[in-house]
Amino acid sequence: MNARDEIADIVVQVKRQLMYGQEIGLETPYLSARSLTYLDRGPQAHAIPSPEKLPYHSLQELDQFIGDCDRCKLSKGRNHIVFGEGNPHARLVFVGEAPGMEEDLTGKPFVGQAGKLLTDIIKAMGLTRDEVYICNIVKCHPPGNRDPEAEEIETCLPFLKAQITLIQPEVICALGRISAQSLVDKSLKITRDRGQWRSFMDIPLMPTYHPAYLLRYPQAKRQVWEDVQDIMKALGLKNLREV
Ligand code: URA
Repeated sequence: MNARDEIADIVVQVKRQLMYGQEIGLETPYLSARSLTYLDRGPQAHAIPSPEKLPYHSLQELDQFIGDCDRCKLSKGRNHIVFGEGNPHARLVFVGEAPGMEEDLTGKPFVGQAGKLLTDIIKAMGLTRDEVYICNIVKCHPPGNRDPEAEEIETCLPFLKAQITLIQPEVICALGRISAQSLVDKSLKITRDRGQWRSFMDIPLMPTYHPAYLLRYPQAKRQVWEDVQDIMKALGLKNLREV
């Protein structure tokens, strides 16, 4: 069992004990609103750290804090950490899976073929890459483009949470299965659940297909466009044209 599953299990057991205590008339201990939310949502809960409590106060400082990271084994094969880029006050954050080979070589997110398609999607929304923020679940390229492992995701996720805390976007768009499962719930199925609003750190999150999937299955572009239109509605953006 990994650390996250273990915590989720403890949460479920604590909740059960508290409910049992209530049922048999015991006075339950005082719990803050945040603890109650955590107990209620269990494994789906993602604590929202207050920006003041972070040891860094800007994305630049966070980047420096991460440093020449060797917190997980992805560090061994990478050329560059792909921290993320865009507007530090973006209203919309795109979260992909992990840097690919071109991203690893350049240190920039979504610059390969899939990146070009993401750029087109952003343009079709009437936005530019500089206006949004683009980052990934893990910041280092997994060897052979394999899926990032649970431990690697767990190690890197606090930095994504810190980025979200500093940016405070209005909407997050999770690109693909790995991103959506890491941010929402492991049981999420991208083919079933895309296009349905979820949340991460209390911020509305739209799961949609990864642009790399669209390169293989261009017919899925229509569904992504529908999801993107929902995001535009949420942000009050005018509908310009289809991708
Ligand atoms: N795929 C991703 O998920 N992220 C990138 O940065 C590039 C490709």
